[in-house]
Amino acid sequence: MMPKDKKKYSQKYTKIWETDPDLKDWLAPDVTNDTLVNCKYCHVVLKAHKKDLVGHAKTEKHNKATAREKSAKSYPSSDALKNLKLHRTKCSMLIKNVLGPSMLEALIEEIGDFPYSIIIDESTDLSTQKVLCIIVRFFSHKSRQIVTTFYRIIKLIECDAKSVHDAIISQLKIDGLKFENMIGVGVDGANVMAGRHNSVTAILKRELPDLIVVKCVSHSLHLCAEKAAELLPRQLEFLVREAHNWFSYSPKRLEYYKTLFETINANKDPKKFKDLAEPAGSPAIKLLTQYWSSGKN
Ligand SMILES: [Zn+2]
Repeated sequence: MMPKDKKKYSQKYTKIWETDPDLKDWLAPDVTNDTLVNCKYCHVVLKAHKKDLVGHAKTEKHNKATAREKSAKSYPSSDALKNLKLHRTKCSMLIKNVLGPSMLEALIEEIGDFPYSIIIDESTDLSTQKVLCIIVRFFSHKSRQIVTTFYRIIKLIECDAKSVHDAIISQLKIDGLKFENMIGVGVDGANVMAGRHNSVTAILKRELPDLIVVKCVSHSLHLCAEKAAELLPRQLEFLVREAHNWFSYSPKRLEYYKTLFETINANKDPKKFKDLAEPAGSPAIKLLTQYWSSGKN
């Protein structure tokens, strides 16, 4: 017979631990692996071993995290804060220097050692400063659901793939988020982000071969729609645009249109001709086809 101590088995998460006074407050099953558990307070993954778990509960890190969690919960809602009024400067300073950093700290702590994904997009702000917006997506053990939230806006000096990649990596490092825990990245279809050879995602994939790259569906759909619209006769677009222009700059024409419309449609108020440049453009087209009979006169 095989001696008992040589028999290899891995212990699994046991529901009974949830009633153990030393464990019940902070222990949570790991959703991906039943031989692991999570500490809700320290945001770490631990082996599902009772002895290890009791040991973890005694560590300084865990005790600090527990104290922090309890003090956050017991914070009363303040009447003084309820009636607080602030002007723009003070308010934005408070957000920038107090609330923002503390929310960021809480976010990073919540992600902890767990896997996460990022969604990135470049932009240029009013002062022509190039920036990269990063959204983070992860499973929150606190709220027990997938959370997608703002992480950071970082300034970019260059916009080539390597610079963007380096900017992301150095920011993750500064904030203490583990690069190797990144499991996915969402990007638009731009060449610098999603190109096959020397794009941000191509470089990331060289370092993390299992990384899942998701191209933005909305961006892709937009490209499809744009290509499809090229097949429509150009006069259609011209017509919709000019219908708006014809009326929008002339109160006289507008008044005439209104009177005529009311005569034809039994005193119903006409709707305004919308601008094609408005989001989606479709309200303009819908209205024009609907009111064509009164509009063309
Ligand atoms: Zn802990």
